[in-house]
Amino acid sequence: DIHPGRRGGEGIEFGHAESLTALVAAARLPEARHAAPLIAAPLVDGVALPGHVRDVISPIDGAVIGRVTEADAAIVTAAMAAAAAGFSAWDATALTTRAAALVRAADLIERERGPLIALLQAEGGKTLDDALAEVREAVDLCRYYALDARRTLSPEPLPGPTGESNLLRRRGRGVVACISPWNFPLAIFVGQVAAALVAGNAVVAKPAEQTPLVAAHAVRLLHAAGIPATALHLLPGDGHVGAMMVGDPRLAGIAFTGSTAVARSIAQDLAARDGPLVPLIAETGGINAMIADATALPEQLVDDVITSAFRSAGQRCSALRLLCVQEDVADPVITMLVGAARELAIGDPRDPATHVGPVIDADAQDRLLAWLDRAEKQGRLLWRADADRPLPRDGIFVPPAVIALDRASDLRDEVFGPVLHVVRWRADGFDDLVEDIARNGTRLTLGIHSRIAATAERAIARLGHGNVYVNRNMIGAVVGTQPFGGSGLSGTGPKAGGSDYVRRFAVEQTITINT
Ligand code: NAD
Repeated sequence: DIHPGRRGGEGIEFGHAESLTALVAAARLPEARHAAPLIAAPLVDGVALPGHVRDVISPIDGAVIGRVTEADAAIVTAAMAAAAAGFSAWDATALTTRAAALVRAADLIERERGPLIALLQAEGGKTLDDALAEVREAVDLCRYYALDARRTLSPEPLPGPTGESNLLRRRGRGVVACISPWNFPLAIFVGQVAAALVAGNAVVAKPAEQTPLVAAHAVRLLHAAGIPATALHLLPGDGHVGAMMVGDPRLAGIAFTGSTAVARSIAQDLAARDGPLVPLIAETGGINAMIADATALPEQLVDDVITSAFRSAGQRCSALRLLCVQEDVADPVITMLVGAARELAIGDPRDPATHVGPVIDADAQDRLLAWLDRAEKQGRLLWRADADRPLPRDGIFVPPAVIALDRASDLRDEVFGPVLHVVRWRADGFDDLVEDIARNGTRLTLGIHSRIAATAERAIARLGHGNVYVNRNMIGAVVGTQPFGGSGLSGTGPKAGGSDYVRRFAVEQTITINT
C-alpha cells in the first residue's frame, strides 16, 4: 500500500506531486527484455541449449514487450545439475556474507525501481501504486530475511554435562526449487529466492509463464549483488517445467506459491517419486470473507471493501471475495458500495489516475466473464461496471462486478478477479454465518467490521485464518509486521515475512563432542 513519506534507503514520497512525476518519468522499460534460462553451465555436450522462444505480450494493449526462451527437459536437467554442483560452495560461504549479498540486492532493487515498475506494469498489468508497493515489498523481504537469518540461523551452543559440548547448526538443504505465481512477479519471486539462498541452498527459480521478464531482471540484480551464478539459476517456462523440477532426483526442497490445485499436484508428485523425502512449503489461495455487522461505520466499511475487492483488479490472494453484511444495514451499505464502485477508473494502469487495470491474460478473462454471465442468467448480478460505460477496447479487461449469494458456502471457487460476492445475515444467525464461512476450508484472510469487540473475538476464535483484519481493509500485509500466509487449503506455512520462514529452508545438525 502507499504510505506517503520515507521508507527504505532513498525514500519515495508518492503523496507529493513532484515525486509522482519523477516516478512516472523513471518508469522506463529496460533495454534487455529477453528472459532466457540463466544456468551457470549453459552448455551440455558442447551445444548451447535451444529452448522454445516466444513473444511476451502485455495485457494492457497486446503489445509485444519482449521475448522469453522457455526451458525444455534438457535445460531443466542442466539447471538442476548446475545447482547441485554449486551448492557446497555456497553453503560453506559465511552466513554474514550471504546475508550481506541480500542487503546489496535490496539496494539494487531500490535503485532500479524505475525499470522494475515499468516491467511490472507492462508485463503484469499493475497500476503505479501497486507496482511501487511491490518493489518496496521485494526490498523489505531481502532486508528482513538478511536480518532474520543472522538471528535464526547462527549456530547455537546448547547445555550438556561436563566434558561434552553440544552445538546446533543450521545448513542449507541442497537444491531448492522456487516456483512462483504471476500476481506478485517481483515480491514473491524475490522473497522465496532470498530466503532459500540466505539459508545456504542453491536455488533453481521458475517464475510464472505470464511474467518471465520481471523475474529475469530480478535475477540479474541478485547476481550483480554478489549471489554467485552457481547458486542461483533461472528457468522460465510453464507448469511442465515446474513438474520436471519436482521430479528431479537432486531436489531437496520446494517453495511454491500459487493455486491450491497445483500445490496438491506437487505434493502428489513428491509422494510418488523415489529418493529422499522432500519438504514442500506451499502458499495458496483463499475464498476470503469479510463480516460486517450493524455497528460498522458504513463509509469506512465501503472504502475498505472497495480497496480489498477491486484493487489490483482483485488479483491478490488476500483479496476480499465475499462480503457478509448484516441484514439490518445491507440495503444502504450495498447501495453505497455500488455507488463507490461506479467511481473506479478502469483503464491503462500506467496512467496514475487508474484504479483498476487489466487482468493477466485471456484465459483469466474468459473464466471471469463466464462467471459474470452465469450470475446474470441466475438473476444474481447486482452490478457490473460495463453496464454503465464501455471498458477500454484494447487490452484484457474484466468489469468490476457485485454478485448476490444466498449463503456464504455457495461460493466454492476462488474467483481471481474484480468480482465481489455479497451475502446477508440476520442478527440471530451470526454463529451459523461463521460456521458457513468455515465450510470452504480456506483460511487465508478474514476481515471483520464491527465496533463490538466480542463479535470480532467470536469469529476469530472459530475461524483459524492466517491474517485477520479488524475495521480496516484486508490486503497489503507488511513484511515483519503482518507475517503473511494461511492454513487448511490456503497453505502449509510458515508465513512469508515472518520469523519462522528462513529457518524452514535449513536443515538442523546437532554436533555432540566428548571433550
Ligand atoms: P498456479 O498454481 O497456476 O501457478 C503457480 C506456479 O506453478 C506457476 O509458476 C506455474 O507455472 C507453476 N505450475 C503449474 N503447474 C505446475 C506443476 N504441475 N508442477 C509444478 N509447478 C507448476 O497459480 P497462478 O495462477 O500463477 O497464481 C494465482 C494463484 O496463486 C491464486 O490461487 C492465488 O491465491 C495464489 N497466491 C497465493 C499467495 C499466498 O501467499 N498464499 C500469494 C499469491 C498468489
